[in-house]
Order: sequence, then structure tokens, then C-alpha cells
Amino acid sequence: MRWSIKVGQLFGIDLKVHLTFALILAWGAVNYGGSAGPLYGVIVVMALFTLVVLHELGHSLAAMWYGIPVKDITLLPIGGVARLERMPEKPMQELVIALAGPAVNVVLAGILLPVVLGITATQSTLSLMRLTTEPGILGLSTFLLLANISLVVFNMIPAFPLDGGRVFRALIGFFTNHQKATQIAVNVGRVLSIGLGLFGIVTGQIFMAFIAFFIFIAGSQEGQAVAARSILRDIQARQAMSAHNVALSSDATVGQAASMMLRSPQPNFAVLDPISGQFLGVATSRGVSQAMQSGQWHTRITEIMHHAGNIPKIALTSSLDEAQDKLSGASSQVLAVYDGLHFKGLLTTGDIYRTFQFLSQGRRPVQRPTM
Ligand SMILES: [Zn+2]
Repeated sequence: MRWSIKVGQLFGIDLKVHLTFALILAWGAVNYGGSAGPLYGVIVVMALFTLVVLHELGHSLAAMWYGIPVKDITLLPIGGVARLERMPEKPMQELVIALAGPAVNVVLAGILLPVVLGITATQSTLSLMRLTTEPGILGLSTFLLLANISLVVFNMIPAFPLDGGRVFRALIGFFTNHQKATQIAVNVGRVLSIGLGLFGIVTGQIFMAFIAFFIFIAGSQEGQAVAARSILRDIQARQAMSAHNVALSSDATVGQAASMMLRSPQPNFAVLDPISGQFLGVATSRGVSQAMQSGQWHTRITEIMHHAGNIPKIALTSSLDEAQDKLSGASSQVLAVYDGLHFKGLLTTGDIYRTFQFLSQGRRPVQRPTM
């Protein structure tokens, strides 16, 4: 996500913070400090977002348990987002991953409840709301207890893509296919988010209206992405890759590659061993152009290419949704397509996009969402 900075790593997952998060800290300093001052307010907000991180970690560890890599967890002012490399399509996996987040908050609430009860039993009875604004261990524990409960209740609203909406989709998914289940969950989510938005506006809770708007947009986007994937699923790599692409010989120089590139509209060139035909890497027109600008005319193309070892491989018969997953998980824009042990050509994000555009003419293309 843009404007995010990495602040740490948990279980191999990068923990990032969006720069706008600073606003929330400032807001916390002003609103939660109470008699203890702004620093305490910052501590309260940090503790609150620790709950959010643990919640996202619940989703992430469940996903990793099913072999789905997690790109990162990002904290935004409206909460946290764990970006999975792909969304689970098996209902059981989705159910477990969606429930794992709120389950963490249920456990935390279970731990905090006896703490709060234990301390309050020894003190004169204060109202619960007063306790939460009381600086100190008791106030903080009560605040976090209520925050955990709120996180569970809010996230379990069945408005897709909230956790409750994902649980709902998983449950429908046991009876119908993934795409239909998504469509139903998205539509229900839209109705609920409109309701939530109107409620927010009528009661003057603008933040709630904002969240509802966000749920509506994110749900719709993910619905479109699932529809797009169902189109890509029926197409094989062999049907999307350019059949007439030109390849470069590994003994070519940058200058020779440049003159070939000038005569071809292709942005990427496979570099092959001239004798064995083995795939060695990919030269991009951008890389060649940069090498030309720094005067490397006579440098061998193999010295500036991306090596084959760093380029994900895919089978000729693999579907394009699989190809898209591989590309989104890698830093590469290109896949090497193989038929058994034989290199057949390159498949790029551009090829997939072009194929999708062709098959869905009239529909608006969508980007993979990150909720
Ligand atoms: Zn969640």
C-alpha cells in the first residue's frame, strides 16, 4: 500500500503503518489523555491498535496454516488490513480464516474480564463508562475489554467484506459456487452498508457513515474481482501468451538487442541459449534503454537481463487466474511458460489484461482488492 512504512515483522509478516495513522495518534493524544495528559492518550491508542494487529494476526496465521502467504499487515486510521496473496475459495478455509480474527478478540476479552472484575471488586463501584476514561491500569484494562467486545461485534456484522460478511459468504458457499456466493454476500453487504450509512448520517455519526461507504466500495470491488477471476479461470496460459514473440540469443549485445527492440512492439524479450534453446532470462526494453543511456552498447545482454531463477514458472495448460496469483505474489511482471521441460514463451500482466478486456468487453476491468 502506498504511503505505508514498515515498522516491524511478526511471524515473517511485514507490519506496516500508513502515514495517515499519525493523525489517529494525534487525535488520541487530544481525546484520550484525560487528566494524565497527551502521552497517556497516545498509549491508549497504541494499545487499541495492538488489539487490531492481534486480530489481523489471527486472520494471517489461519491463512498461513492453509498455505496462503500473507504479504503484510497494514494499520490504517480505520483499522487494520492483512493482505493475503490470494483469497481462499474453499468455504471451510474462508470460514476459519474469517473467524480467526474475531476469535483473538474473544480470547483477549476473556483474559481482560477477570482482570477488570478482580480490580473493581476491591474498589468502590464506579460506572463502566467512567472507568474507561480513568487513567491507569484499571481504566486501560476496561477500555481494552470494551474495545475487544466492540471489535467482535462490529466485525461480525454480515456486511461483506467485513469478517461477518466473509463468514456469510463461506456459509452460502457450502451450497453454491464461489462466484454466486460472492454475488449474494456482496448484495447483502451493500444493503447493510447503505443502512449503516444512513443510520450514521441520521444520528450524526459521520465516522460510521464513512466506514459504511468504505464497506460498500470495498465489497463491490471484491465482487467484481471475483467475477473477473471466474472469466480468467476458463482460459489457459497458452491461449493468452503472444505466439509470435521474438527471443534474443544470449550472445547478443545490448546494442543488438536495442536495434531488435526498435523494430518490435514487444516490451519483454526471452533470452535463450543459442545452442540448447534453454531459457536464461528476460530482457526488458526499459532495461536495454537504460543500459544504452549509460553507454553499455557492447555489454552482453545476459549481464543486464532478469535471470530465469527470479522469474516464476507456469505450465502451458495453467489457467490465467493461477497465472495472476503467481504474478501478484512475485515482484516480476512476467511468467515463463513451460510445456513439461520445454520453454514455450513469456506471459505478462499485459497479456492477461488484454485477454480479460477482450472477453469482458463492455464491462469495466477491476484491480485486485486488498481488504
Ligand atoms: Zn477481521
